[in-house]
Amino acid sequence: MVELIPSQDTLMQILKRTGAFREGHFVYPNGKHSPHYFQMPLAFRFYDTARVLAVALSRKFRLEKDISSQLPKVSIISPSSGGIPVAFGVRDALNAEQIYWAEQELGERQFRQYVNQGEVNPCILVDDIIRSGHAINETVNLVKDLNARIIGCGAIVRFDSAPDELEGVPIKSLIDFDVKMYDGDEDCAECKQGVPTEHVRF
Ligand SMILES: [Zn+2]
Repeated sequence: MVELIPSQDTLMQILKRTGAFREGHFVYPNGKHSPHYFQMPLAFRFYDTARVLAVALSRKFRLEKDISSQLPKVSIISPSSGGIPVAFGVRDALNAEQIYWAEQELGERQFRQYVNQGEVNPCILVDDIIRSGHAINETVNLVKDLNARIIGCGAIVRFDSAPDELEGVPIKSLIDFDVKMYDGDEDCAECKQGVPTEHVRF
């Protein structure tokens, strides 16, 4: 059976069409400037789009023998709320048994569910976008505290400045994005051209 994964171009068109990827002149809360802006939940507001993206990512996981051989006794884990629809979609496509997600509480990332050692199946960590890898790294530590094994990791979009592996497990992504981020207005090409700015949140 041939399992097709849409090309990076096709997937970028989907993100543009849904408003999840925009081009312009954006200022982030940390003061950095960028000519592009991702807000991935805008793509996941449409069920059909969400499904296309999650199924495509799941196909990358299914190709891994270490993953396919363990299904359905696998956990899909999201580091944050943005990854929850990805986790549900990937779970559906792989028919994995468990889903968990983490959130920030009082500045500390923890699982939303109360979980004990031994309850969590071998894990696939998924997120909508990996920018610095910070959230996913914190989630790795949570998983290790539970003595669960990480067998996969992936996201719809991975900035090329982010790590490409976690604990020896390669990070799968549908789109590897060449990120342009300027520390301030001095080196920003859009500032020099006088393009109006828009302040955005992460
Ligand atoms: Zn600028």
